[in-house]
Amino acid sequence: MALSNDDILAGDLAHVWHPYSSFLTPSPTYAVRSAKGVTITLADGRELIDGMSSWWSVLHGYNHPRMNAALAAQAEQVSHVMFGGLTHEPAVTLCQKLVELTPAGLNKVFLSDSGSVSVEVAMKMALQYWHSQGRPEKHQFLALKKGYHGDTFGAMSVCDPVTGMHHLFRDNLMQQRFAEPPNSNFYGEFDEADLESLKEQLHHHKQLAAVILEPIVQGTGGMRFYSPVYLQKVRELCDQYNVLLIADEIATGFGRTGKLFACEHAGISPDIMCLGKTLTGGYMTLAATLCNDKISDGICRGEAGVFMHGPTFMGNPLACAMANTSIDLLLENNWQAQVSALAARLSEGLEPCRELAAVADVRVLGGIGVVELHQAQTLDELQPAFVAEGIWVRPFGKLVYVMPPYVMSANELATLTQGIYNVVSRLS
Ligand SMILES: *Cc1c(COP(=O)(O)O)cnc(C)c1O
Repeated sequence: MALSNDDILAGDLAHVWHPYSSFLTPSPTYAVRSAKGVTITLADGRELIDGMSSWWSVLHGYNHPRMNAALAAQAEQVSHVMFGGLTHEPAVTLCQKLVELTPAGLNKVFLSDSGSVSVEVAMKMALQYWHSQGRPEKHQFLALKKGYHGDTFGAMSVCDPVTGMHHLFRDNLMQQRFAEPPNSNFYGEFDEADLESLKEQLHHHKQLAAVILEPIVQGTGGMRFYSPVYLQKVRELCDQYNVLLIADEIATGFGRTGKLFACEHAGISPDIMCLGKTLTGGYMTLAATLCNDKISDGICRGEAGVFMHGPTFMGNPLACAMANTSIDLLLENNWQAQVSALAARLSEGLEPCRELAAVADVRVLGGIGVVELHQAQTLDELQPAFVAEGIWVRPFGKLVYVMPPYVMSANELATLTQGIYNVVSRLS
């Protein structure tokens, strides 16, 4: 490499924005040289076992021979063409796979660049649908508090109003409706009282285009695992009040919660579904918005006659080829066994944290492990402490959480959970 570790970090500090970052009080940042399997190698030579899967996205590990070969092969064929008037095998194969694997009824696929954009697309689909039905007044969305759906304006408008800092963007943000999130735990009894806030908001159904939620796992907004019965009831209420249901499976898709899609825990099919993050196994940026025929027919029979969206890099062949290969690997690798092994080992490895003074709760669902602390922490001390343990974990607020690549071995996972225990045990 031409730049030394120090050069990279100095240049980074001077010019490069990171997610939710400040140039005045930068948080600890590490330069990466390479990554292979579940190990990230830093430019200074240190090796870290990756507990974050690069924000849920890596399934089969870094630098995977099959993925690399498919990427090179696709580059030899075609790296990119515009999707207006042109199509190609990687995109068609991917859309067929997605229709086949996702809940029944989802039959049309819109490919885009990132999760946030797929949420924008989902919201636009819902709005254009109601417009086509002669109901343009159904223009608001009902979302759950503690939810997270992305950082663009439409997506931001349905994120938790407090953590999404809605007041900062008040004059530019669409005004949406919010219900209290369910308290019934994934593993416990369902409490009907959880539905009260949602039902109250559904009184405004004449203005509501859709309910948008993360099925089963509220991710970035709190790592909460809620009852499948709640999701079933939301589907029933949406039908009853003639409101569409958008399932944001960007974090939960492709097996992470122990089902291929989290909606399957409740046996429901949404009208619109968003996929992203894991879609390409962490190789390329790609997202998809699926909808059923009711939505696509409505949109195409409406005033515009077309769906009003079309990103430049829509259906990028390299990204589609990575998604196809990742899905093939997922199915060949027996992901159910991989994820249930992860679940068992995460439980075993993290459960001892429950006894620690700083810890409020430990919970595991599928390939997701969470240690919730009593007090929010800053990254300044925690991040270097995890790195010193040889693991890559990036906590936020009170939440120390991991969602390892599905291929992580028992030994690697033991290092990861022991490292978390060691760091958390030192918190007062
Ligand atoms: C990450 C995430 C998004 C946003 O995806 P980006 O690719 O970061 O734009 C939206 N919804 C959920 C549930 C997510 O976890």
